[in-house]
Amino acid sequence: MNKKDYYEVLGVSKTASQDEIKSAFRKLAKKYHPDVSKEENAAEKFKEVQEAYAVLSDENKRRQYDQFGHSAFTNSQGGFTGFEGFDFGSMDDIFGDILRNFGFGGGRASSRSGSRREDGSDLLYRMTISFDEAVHGAKRDIKVECEDECDECHGKGGFNSHTCPECKGSGTVTRQQSTLFGSFLSRTTCPRCGGTGTSFEKICTNCNGRGKVKQNKTLTVSIPKGVDTGNRLRLAGKGEAGINGGDTGDLYIEFTVKDDDFYERDGNDLYIEVPLTITEAVLGCKKMVPTVYGNVELSIPDGTKNGSKLRLKGKGIDSDINGKKGDMYVIVNVVIPSKLNRKQKELFRELSETDLDGDSEFTKYNKILKK
Ligand SMILES: [Zn+2]
Ligand SMILES: [Zn+2]
Repeated sequence: MNKKDYYEVLGVSKTASQDEIKSAFRKLAKKYHPDVSKEENAAEKFKEVQEAYAVLSDENKRRQYDQFGHSAFTNSQGGFTGFEGFDFGSMDDIFGDILRNFGFGGGRASSRSGSRREDGSDLLYRMTISFDEAVHGAKRDIKVECEDECDECHGKGGFNSHTCPECKGSGTVTRQQSTLFGSFLSRTTCPRCGGTGTSFEKICTNCNGRGKVKQNKTLTVSIPKGVDTGNRLRLAGKGEAGINGGDTGDLYIEFTVKDDDFYERDGNDLYIEVPLTITEAVLGCKKMVPTVYGNVELSIPDGTKNGSKLRLKGKGIDSDINGKKGDMYVIVNVVIPSKLNRKQKELFRELSETDLDGDSEFTKYNKILKK
C-alpha cells in the first residue's frame, strides 16, 4: 500500500500549527466533499483528507506519525486501523467544531491470536440531562457496549499454551535470503505466533481467539453538580479493557444540558424574570421568588425600575466542577395592566390628575420640546 504523506495531502509543512492544519482541512474538505465536489476522484480524495486530518489534528497521533510514519496506524493486513466511527456525514458535521477523536486509542496491530499486550480504547458517551440534574447533580445508569477481556480465556485467546514450535519461543525467526550479492540472514516476526513466542493447543471459541468480546456494561454515572453543556467527565479505566496487561481505556461522558423554561444560566449564575405590578414597583413589596433551592422572600424597594437587576447571593449553582457558588439575579419586569375594571380605571384617572412627571427624565424632555 502506497500512502501519500499526510502533510502533503493537506498541503501544510511539517511544522504547521493546529490552526493551519484545521484551516487547510476545511478548505480541502469543502473542495472534495462528495456531495458537492465536481473534482475527479472526489470521494477518494475526501477520504484521504479526512484520514490525514484525523491523525495530524491529534497531537498524540501526530507524534506517532512523525516517528513511525504510516506504519504507526497500519495493521499487518495493511488495513487502516483506529478510525472506526470517524465518519463525517453531512457538511454540517465537517464545519462543526466537534470532531470525534475517540475510538482511536486501542487496537494496535494485534495480528494474530497471540498474547500481545493491547491497550483498550477510550469511549465517548454523549448524555443529555435536564437543567435540574445539572444544578443538583444526579445518578444515572447508562449502558455501554464495549469490548472486554474474554472471561473464558482471560484475554489469552486460547488454552494450553505451549512454546511456539516455529520460533521456539523467541518470537522471531531467522531466514536465509539469497540475493545477487550473496546470501544473508534476516530476522522477522514469527508468522505462526505473531511474535508472542507461544501458540495454543485450542483456540478459545468464546472470543474466536481475539481475547476480547463485546459486552454490554451498565455503569452508574454520578453527574456532578454544576455540569454544563460541553463539559466532559472522565471515568478513568471505564473504557474498553486492555488485553494481556494492556491499559484499560477511559470513558468520557460529554454532557448536553437542556434549557430550562424559567432560568437562564451564565456559568454558575442564574437569571429569572419576575413580573411586578405597577404598584408593587412604585410602592415596594415583599415578593416570593423561586430559587433552585426553594422559594425565598425578596424585598423589592419602592421605586424599582423596569429591568432592574436584584441579586440573591449564593442562590446560583453550587458547582462541583469549579468549587464555586453562583448568585441568582432577579430581573424585574413591571407589567402595565391591560385588564382594568371600572374602579381601577377611575383610580388611574384620579392619579393622572396629580403631578406624576417630577422625575428628571420629564424635565429634560420638556426642555427639548420648548426649543
Ligand atoms: Zn513463533
Ligand atoms: Zn476467549
